[in-house]
Amino acid sequence: MFISFEGIDGSGKGTQIKLFAEYLQKKGIDFVIVREPGGTEVGELIRSLLLNSDLKIYPRTELLLFLASRAQIVDEVILPALRAGKTVISDRFIDSSVAYQGVGRGIGFELVEELNRFATSDVKPDLTFYLDITPETSLKRKMIKDRMEKNGIEFLNKVREAYLMIAQKEPNRVVVINGERNIDEIHAEIVEIFEKRSKS
Ligand code: C5P
Repeated sequence: MFISFEGIDGSGKGTQIKLFAEYLQKKGIDFVIVREPGGTEVGELIRSLLLNSDLKIYPRTELLLFLASRAQIVDEVILPALRAGKTVISDRFIDSSVAYQGVGRGIGFELVEELNRFATSDVKPDLTFYLDITPETSLKRKMIKDRMEKNGIEFLNKVREAYLMIAQKEPNRVVVINGERNIDEIHAEIVEIFEKRSKS
């Protein structure tokens, strides 16, 4: 099964992925974790470009760098792992591009969806956990800022709205998780949903 975790900055993705990975390990489920941007040698180089505060990167360049990192990770890691029967967990995937670059930076929702299809050869997660928090919570939680994290309330609001739109459009894939609650409660809900999906 291919599972992605999504959310605005400070949504708790990282923490939840760690807990979920521990759960999979305990269950003896074979899995790999990848992160975006990054996850391959090429992807990590792209990530350091994207996070570098000294660079002025234009929105289309930014989108194409994310897509390049994604194309690489699909071929190099995700597809081989899925073919080997492993569970793949991705820290961000196609929805981040639609939300951040498509809507946040104004490139266009449908256009980015289309470019995602090209970059991934239409490989999509079976299940996406979108951790929903308000931009206010995001700013409270995130203190350290690199180039990508200099996001204000207005931008984060647009990104959040886009995520909610994706969830509405694809309710079978994207599950909205209330990320304002405590860590254990959120983890329990994620495990419950995963177990239900694994049975069906
Ligand atoms: O997931 P993580 O917080 O490590 O992402 C790094 C940064 O990249 C975040 O600040 C996120 O807002 C930003 N990002 C972005 N567009 C994407 C994916 C991530 O601006 N498509």
